[in-house]
Amino acid sequence: MPIYEYECETCGRFEKMQKMSDAALTECPSCGSQVHRVISKNVGIVFKGSGFYATDSPNRIKSEARAVNQERQKDNQALLDGDVKGYVQQSESTDKKVAGA
Ligand SMILES: [Zn+2]
Repeated sequence: MPIYEYECETCGRFEKMQKMSDAALTECPSCGSQVHRVISKNVGIVFKGSGFYATDSPNRIKSEARAVNQERQKDNQALLDGDVKGYVQQSESTDKKVAGA
């Protein structure tokens, strides 16, 4: 489930895990002020599954991490474009690649 970042006019930023199908929050859950969704641009590498081992050579880890990060950037780009379907597809294919790495 993706984590969305929101900014409350009063409390500042907070994160909320939501389903893709859930509507975006409009009110802060703690103070009721207006909130807007922040698209996080600094989503880093997510180490999922069993692709990375301490016994791997650093160069191999680096090149795989770079490949995964590129895929994640595509995820983020799809999200920025508001292309939720593309995001889901891209995200799933990334997960498969990471799992198979
Ligand atoms: Zn608030």
